[in-house]
Amino acid sequence: MRGTQTINEKGHLVIGGVDTTQLVEKYGTPLYVYDVDLINQNIQRFKEAFEPYAVNWQIAYASKAFSTLAMIQLVKEHELSLDVVSGGELYTALKAGFPASRIHFHGNNKSVEEIQMAIRAGIGAFVVDNFYELAMLEEEAQKEEIVVNVLLRLTPGVEAHTHAYVTTGQEDSKFGFTLSNGDVEKAIQLALNAPHIHLLGVHSHIGSQIFDAEGFVLATTRILARFLDWKDTFGYTPKVLNVGGGFGIKYTEEDDPLPLESQLRPVLETILAFCQEHSLQTPEVWIEPGRSIVGEAGTTLYKLGSSKTIPGVRKYVSVDGGMTDNIRPSLYGAKYEAVIANRADEPNVETVSVAGKCCESGDMLIWDLPLPTPAAGDVLAVFCTGAYGYSMANNYNRIGRPAVIFVENEKDYLVVERETYEDLIKKDLLMPEMVKQRS
Ligand SMILES: *Cc1c(COP(=O)(O)O)cnc(C)c1O
Repeated sequence: MRGTQTINEKGHLVIGGVDTTQLVEKYGTPLYVYDVDLINQNIQRFKEAFEPYAVNWQIAYASKAFSTLAMIQLVKEHELSLDVVSGGELYTALKAGFPASRIHFHGNNKSVEEIQMAIRAGIGAFVVDNFYELAMLEEEAQKEEIVVNVLLRLTPGVEAHTHAYVTTGQEDSKFGFTLSNGDVEKAIQLALNAPHIHLLGVHSHIGSQIFDAEGFVLATTRILARFLDWKDTFGYTPKVLNVGGGFGIKYTEEDDPLPLESQLRPVLETILAFCQEHSLQTPEVWIEPGRSIVGEAGTTLYKLGSSKTIPGVRKYVSVDGGMTDNIRPSLYGAKYEAVIANRADEPNVETVSVAGKCCESGDMLIWDLPLPTPAAGDVLAVFCTGAYGYSMANNYNRIGRPAVIFVENEKDYLVVERETYEDLIKKDLLMPEMVKQRS
């Protein structure tokens, strides 16, 4: 049980004081349910982790983990900053009324239109990934006659201890300026000489679902060592050191992440000690958590339908969603835990594998899940789906995206409507007359 989850006297799973079976009756399935109280707690814990330290900080929620108007509004209430990686995420943030000055724009291939949109909106910083972007940004900022804040994304050559597919900190990465081959110094030189760029500092993001502090400390140490070189070479010291996101969460019993505070503390201590030793101005420390803010707060509710038992092999049970609402198991082999929400108090008596309904053998949500004997019509609650679930949802097989509900203090709020069949064909056009006649 996570956050506000409990089991009521009927044996039903309750989130935010709301019986999940009632949510299913009211909104249908599949359904994403977010425990707002747990999101609030996660944000609060990050803030408290910084408090003991004499350092200026910013926490930017990485909105790619879960970006909707209501979520951005919640992040705004907490006065965090916000990371976006596309025009669409930027548009969502602006429409939610998020202050542009606290938005940071990431991405390895921002288009000229996206850069123009962000400049005109007056965003707080661009996290520049490559030389192409640096030149384009200077050109566009010049046209608009403004100076834009820039962090340079560095690739420090640190591979976080995590699943290979979601690692972005190695040198063999599509992201960032390589720290080991002089590219970073070239980029700093260019940025310092660009009249419409204000080089605020540097950034690194070493991976995702990281369980300890070692990778963060190693990357930070490598980058800090360069601060001394840059001071000598350019007379330049970064004002901001952004150490990225990637703080791990507990999807299943196998996952054992250090608490957020314990991941952050050694990084802050490393920075403070280094700067004191070398008489450097301590940089502002920025972090960019996504998953660790929303991941455990999300639960997906499904209805069970057909099942198939292959004697001596396994039993498959199918849900009314799958890789369309949660592609992570098929994409990365991600693992989840689940319960039968309408019989959450019953002991597990068998092991089943949970399949999605898409025409794809790889559309499996959970292999070998212990459950009470499942029956058609039962509600399956899959935990920890709050990050990269809805945000990666798709319409394969023309399946509509589920609704999203926030629950808090015994109330439920619809924050994203379920996609209808009409929504699915909204952008389709009928075949033009001309083509029809030819055939
Ligand atoms: C994805 C990403 C994040 C957030 O990662 P989480 O694992 O969700 O915390 C932060 N910064 C950058 C640059 C990213 O690409």
